[in-house]
Amino acid sequence: MIRYLFFLLLLLSCQDKPIVVSNPTIIPKPVKMILNEGFYNWSSNAQIISDSLFVSEKKYFQKLFSIQDVKEKNTVYFKKNNLLLKEEYFLKILENQIIIEASSPNGIMHGIQSLRQIVPINENISSKKISINCLEIHDFPRFKWRGLLLDCCRHFMQKDFVKRYIDLLAFHKMNILHWHLTEDQGWRIEIEKYPKLTEIGAWRENKDGEKYGGFYTKKDIREIVLYAENRGIEIVPEIELPGHSVAAIASYPHLSCTGDSIKVETDWGVFKDIYCAGNDSVFTFLEDVLEEVIELFPSKYIHIGGDEAPKYHWENCSKCQKRIINNNLKGEHELQSYFIKRISDFLKTKNKVLIGWDEIIEGGIPENAIIQSWRGMEGGIVAAKNQNQAIMSPTSHCYFDYDLDAINLEKVYSFEPIPKELSQSESKFIIGGECNMWSERAPQELIDSKVFPRILAMSEVLWSEKEKDYTEFSNRIEKHYPKLDKLGVNYGYEKTPIKFNSTFKENEFIVSIEKGNSKMNLEYNVNNQGWKDYLVPLKFKKNTNLIVKEKNSKRKVVATKNLEFNFHKGLDKKTIYKTNYNPSYQADKEKTLVNGVAGSNHNFRDGQWQGFYGTDVDVIIDLGEKTKFSELSSSYFQYHLSWILLPKSIEYLISDNGETFSRIFYKDQICNPMQEGKFKEQFSYHGEQSARYIRLKAKNYGTLPKQHPAAGSNSWVFIDEFIIQ
Ligand SMILES: [Zn+2]
Repeated sequence: MIRYLFFLLLLLSCQDKPIVVSNPTIIPKPVKMILNEGFYNWSSNAQIISDSLFVSEKKYFQKLFSIQDVKEKNTVYFKKNNLLLKEEYFLKILENQIIIEASSPNGIMHGIQSLRQIVPINENISSKKISINCLEIHDFPRFKWRGLLLDCCRHFMQKDFVKRYIDLLAFHKMNILHWHLTEDQGWRIEIEKYPKLTEIGAWRENKDGEKYGGFYTKKDIREIVLYAENRGIEIVPEIELPGHSVAAIASYPHLSCTGDSIKVETDWGVFKDIYCAGNDSVFTFLEDVLEEVIELFPSKYIHIGGDEAPKYHWENCSKCQKRIINNNLKGEHELQSYFIKRISDFLKTKNKVLIGWDEIIEGGIPENAIIQSWRGMEGGIVAAKNQNQAIMSPTSHCYFDYDLDAINLEKVYSFEPIPKELSQSESKFIIGGECNMWSERAPQELIDSKVFPRILAMSEVLWSEKEKDYTEFSNRIEKHYPKLDKLGVNYGYEKTPIKFNSTFKENEFIVSIEKGNSKMNLEYNVNNQGWKDYLVPLKFKKNTNLIVKEKNSKRKVVATKNLEFNFHKGLDKKTIYKTNYNPSYQADKEKTLVNGVAGSNHNFRDGQWQGFYGTDVDVIIDLGEKTKFSELSSSYFQYHLSWILLPKSIEYLISDNGETFSRIFYKDQICNPMQEGKFKEQFSYHGEQSARYIRLKAKNYGTLPKQHPAAGSNSWVFIDEFIIQ
């Protein structure tokens, strides 16, 4: 970073001083790079001598660096070397010569991209004197499948934005764009035979009445596919079935079990309206659609989803049930396998290979299908042991829609796509990995901040050698940011941008803050009293509302976080959990209810909300001695689409011996499981009491009711604090 600033200053002060690139860095890290004696003096005039196989790459190179192909002292060679593997390349920078050798256009493209990371590109590169240290790179990928999933359904992304991402993928030697094109909330690809898919299915009416959507015409798609091809990127389209198909059913209601007319979905989640598996016209429809999709995408692969398909309607549909009986299937899971196999057989006749999410292995793995493992690594392990190829993208490391609290840069960097459970011969069925950018909570303008810098770690996991050093990577990241700046990437943070560590000691809260990037500055505001720089841990002796944010940020999404402290008699007291919170939402563990910190009104993932899945909350607070109090309050979160409901009932009890309790408060009928939105609700008892032990029981609502999209599944109770005043 400092060196770049230095160069910048040089540029501004004296235009004639040369830029010297003496120790270039590249992400993903090349397998081998050695610096040699001497310098190559960059010039916009250079003779380009290329093998005829690399005509398109030569054009790309000329345009990228504004090079005039004229007879000059400098020569750039694109040489064919048949001894190299498909994506392998040599890049040699000698005095007056740059040589890229590869056996395929993909290899040449990787060489060009490495060069692009070495040469300090800016608007008027031609007017600068640039000297690059002579060097040699020998490089090839560890995995052949290095992908990014872009969900253009939950939020539509403009054609130019998709092209920009293709460019960014190429820059980091990723080679697959997994393009998610159909969803509950929008159908995004023009299908001539079924025009309603885009007339109706591409648009949803948001709650405020606004019409939202968009789609890609066949012309758009051809343009994008060509753009990708010219950069060595393969686009794999995803057409979801049998679930995530509300938009298609909204367009053509006969595709569902009920035939009822429904609307394109506006909420996020898993929905029970899916394609009917008993109706042959559904298969005719899907085959017609796939035929048009195949015509547009040259890739050998078609992703058909296959995930999250609730079987509720199939269980109650006479056509589906008849299919189960006629085909001797064991229930709805085998009906799903039947569905996938029928599509797989169709794709085989078109010479295409089916890829599906790991649910498609339930009820038997379709022959030759590629499994994309997302619910952990297990699906990939089962696939590999069965000699099916697998792509690893577990939610634990690869879901870039998740907050940095869950998946930060270092965690992505620690990802190892080959599970220990596999033998060497089984491992070769793991063909690579993908990072998944689901867009429920990320419209186009937020995508950069989610994908970057995490994709840098993923590119290195999938390309570079297995042995890695995070500290060394961090140093290269610092030198990489200015390159991203030049490409206009509005990258986010490396880890949770603002993380509070609070302790309660001697009647005061002490809050220290961990920063998401080492170089960021923070400012804070206490009870709306004005902004101050954060330099040392903060201390508070009364109820406080603290707001912290990044100072002087140029990011599009500026980190800001607030913290609310409540002083009360339960603070830091001993708790006894009679039921267990879920490990995914453990918050401050046994301290959660008595740490003085309230959970957010709209974010149940803020680290203060504790979740109980399918079980009640039953916790005893031991105040240490008999204590007078006049209020008990606890609050709960509801967001029914994430299956989080208010409790069925709440009970407060007191005891002096910790064994026999008497009830002082009871309230039921507090939950409306279909009430929309995210909200927090508090339940208070008022009255003069005195006790040593106070017990809180909150009854889990139980299974989700019939009218819920995920009817029959367990629900969550989320609680943040138990206030004793
Ligand atoms: Zn049906």
